[in-house]
Amino acid sequence: MVNRKSANRKSAQSKRAGQQATHRSLKEQLILAGKVLAAEGQDDFTRGHISFRLPDDPNLFFMKAHSIGLDEITMQNILTIDLEGNVVAGTARRHSEVYIHSEIFKARPDVNCVIHTHPTYSIALSATGRELKCYSQPGALFYQALGSYADTINLIRSQAMGAGVARALGSGRAVLLKNHGVVVTGATIAEAVIGTIMLENGAMMQLLVEAAGDPAPEFSRADIEKLKADISQPEQFTINFDYLVRRVKRRG
Ligand SMILES: [Zn+2]
Repeated sequence: MVNRKSANRKSAQSKRAGQQATHRSLKEQLILAGKVLAAEGQDDFTRGHISFRLPDDPNLFFMKAHSIGLDEITMQNILTIDLEGNVVAGTARRHSEVYIHSEIFKARPDVNCVIHTHPTYSIALSATGRELKCYSQPGALFYQALGSYADTINLIRSQAMGAGVARALGSGRAVLLKNHGVVVTGATIAEAVIGTIMLENGAMMQLLVEAAGDPAPEFSRADIEKLKADISQPEQFTINFDYLVRRVKRRG
C-alpha cells in the first residue's frame, strides 16, 4: 500500500516535471517568435501579440503581455490565460485584445498559435477592400483561406468582437482586420510566424503590381492549389522559422 502510494507520488512528480519542461520550451519558442516578428518589421510600438495553447490543457494559453515590444517577451512576463480571457497565472498587464485569441481558440480546436500584428502592406491592402490575389507565391498560401473583418477600425476589446473575428476566420488561415491589422493562425508557432510574414509579402507584391497597373491574369486555380499544398507542409514552416531564429540570434 505504502509502496503503491509512493509509486503514484513519483509518477505524478515525473508527469509534473515533464509538463514544466514542455511549458518552458514553449515559452522559449514564444520569446524567439517575438524577436523574429520584430526583426521582420511586424512590430508597431508595443502593439501586436502572440499566443500559444497549452498542449496539456487546451482551455489555457500562453500570451505576450501588454506594455512591452514583441522582442521583449521573457519567461517572467508571459501570461497564462483561459478561454474567457481571464489571467490565471502571471502578474504582467494583459492586452485588451485578448479576445481575438480566446475566441479563435474556442472556435478552432486545430489552431494552437494566434498572432495579431499591424503590418504596413497588409493594412494598406485591407483598406482597399480588395481580396488578396496570387500575384506571387506567398499569396498562394492564403488562397481561399483569408477572411475579412470590417466591423470597426477599433481594438477588439470584447468577447463579441473576438467572436466576430473568429467568424471571419472561419476554417481559413488568417483574417485581414480592415484598416487595423492581421490575425494569422497555425497549428505551430512556426506556421503562424511564417504565415504572418508571407501574408505581408503577398500584400506588398499585390500593391506593387496594382500600382504598376494592368496586371496580367493569375495562374489557373489548379496551378495555385498545387503550390498552396506544397508550401503548406509543416516542414516548410519549420525550416523557414528555424532559419529566421538562427538569423535573429546571429544578429543579437
Ligand atoms: Zn491591433
